[in-house]
Amino acid sequence: MAPAVSPSAGAWIMSPSTPDDNAAARLEAVRVRIAAAALASDRPPGSITLVAASKAQDPAAIRALYGAGQRHFGESYVQEALRKREALADLDIIWHFIGAIQSNKSRDIAAHFAWAHGVDRIKIAERLNAQRPIALPRLNVCIQVNVGAEPQKAGVEPAALPALAAALQGLPRLRLRGLMTLPPPAHAAEEQRRHFRELAAAFRDLRSQGLDLDTLSMGMSDDLEAAIAEGATVVRVGTALFDRRG
Ligand SMILES: *Cc1c(COP(=O)(O)O)cnc(C)c1O
Repeated sequence: MAPAVSPSAGAWIMSPSTPDDNAAARLEAVRVRIAAAALASDRPPGSITLVAASKAQDPAAIRALYGAGQRHFGESYVQEALRKREALADLDIIWHFIGAIQSNKSRDIAAHFAWAHGVDRIKIAERLNAQRPIALPRLNVCIQVNVGAEPQKAGVEPAALPALAAALQGLPRLRLRGLMTLPPPAHAAEEQRRHFRELAAAFRDLRSQGLDLDTLSMGMSDDLEAAIAEGATVVRVGTALFDRRG
């Protein structure tokens, strides 16, 4: 008979945590942060969708997070995203495009994503509308707003937002869901919140004009609490969810 081995001896032999355990633990930690921020603002935690920003992460890392229960993934580069989609075709992932949208990439985005968060000009919206395959539901879009009005940054200027939103509403293959922002880096919580508050105000203005919007896509690993305090319904989180920085 083999000598009895105590359970604790086994722990020395086996690696204490597998990559899948790490993915589950990271996901749980982010979910706890989201829930705590929601409850602090008297909001139901379930009213906030977590999109895992998976740029530069390999398919195995995405698969591990999926195995832990994550369903929404956001990609920033079209070619990279299409390769990963193919490698993960057996999974029921909801794909978001969260990067800048170039004209020559619009067709692939229209064909392979459920959401596009970075729409900031009518020309791109018209292309996505024309290129969205008839067999698919309407493409969900968010208008990216340059709340900091930074010269080099993507996003529509706040003053031009109402006209762009009205124009997008006329495009039948798109479904305008809301607004997105990637604010200037800010370390102080109050400064983070100021930009999110501006986006939330623009969102409320559009809704008060009768637009049927339900999505405020703002907040990342470092500032999701500030974004949720200001009303975020979607947070896009990369670094905090993955072992390796994207
Ligand atoms: C990478 C990225 C994120 C995630 O940023 P982290 O700081 O890693 O959480 C969110 N939104 C966009 C548009 C991104 O490109």
